[in-house]
Formats: sequence, C-alpha cells, structure tokens
Amino acid sequence: MSELRELYQEVIIDHGRHPRNFGVLDCASYHQEGFNPLCGDKVILHVYEVNGVVVDLKFEGSGCAISMASASLMTECLKGKSRDEIQEMFNLFHRWVTEDADESVSKEKLGKLTVLGGVREFPARVKCATLAWHTLRAGLEGENRRVSTE
Ligand code: ZN
Repeated sequence: MSELRELYQEVIIDHGRHPRNFGVLDCASYHQEGFNPLCGDKVILHVYEVNGVVVDLKFEGSGCAISMASASLMTECLKGKSRDEIQEMFNLFHRWVTEDADESVSKEKLGKLTVLGGVREFPARVKCATLAWHTLRAGLEGENRRVSTE
C-alpha cells in the first residue's frame, strides 16, 4: 500500500511541477476563473467547445501542488468529452475524493485521476483537488463569475 501511495505522490508531484495543457487557448469559446481562498489556489480555464464537446482545454493559475496537478490531470482526461460525459466524470471524481466510492467502477472510469483519492483523508485538501472541476462545471453552465470553493 505504501508503494502505491508513493507512486500516487510521484504523479501528483510531476503534474504539479510540470502541468500539462498549461497556457492560453486562442480559440477558446469561454474562460472561467476559480479560486480556493482556504489555500490560495487560483485557476483560469480556457475551454474550446464545439457542439457540446470540449475539443480542447487549457488552464493557467497558481497554487499548491494538488490544485495544479488536479487541473493538469483534468485537462488531460476531459479533452474530447461531451458535456454529459464531463458531468458524469465530475460526479465520479467528486465521490472518489470525498467518500468511499465503488473502487472498480471508479478506477475504470477515472483512470489516472484516482491518484488524487488520497485527499479524502484531508478535508481541506479536497477543495484543492476539486477547484478545477468546480470551475469547469461553472463554465459549462455559463456562470460568468468567479467561482469560489467557499
Ligand atoms: Zn491548495
């Protein structure tokens, strides 16, 4: 178990230090900003959506390793997904980091996102891990305002 934990941490540290899909997206359909005041994490998502499918997404921001790794992993996993699929992923991910979710179903659907499951034991960290997701959901729902996890 501790080996697995170390592996998880490595993925988080790697994505935290070298976030994927970091930067501006010139063709973005919309932008959405999110903030986690508890930790000071900030994320701005740039989303390019065509006919209800998120064709591309990038993010900018700053914050702790968990918030950056979560945003990085999220952008990798959600590219090419439809709004419905994203909503399903959001629900699965949220359950995964907050309560004991069905391991096999979640692992199959969430893939690498499961590395963030460790935050379950640290409620304050859940906000870091879900910031990008709440921000994306607000963007999809067209709420043109800053999202705060508080
Ligand atoms: Zn944080």
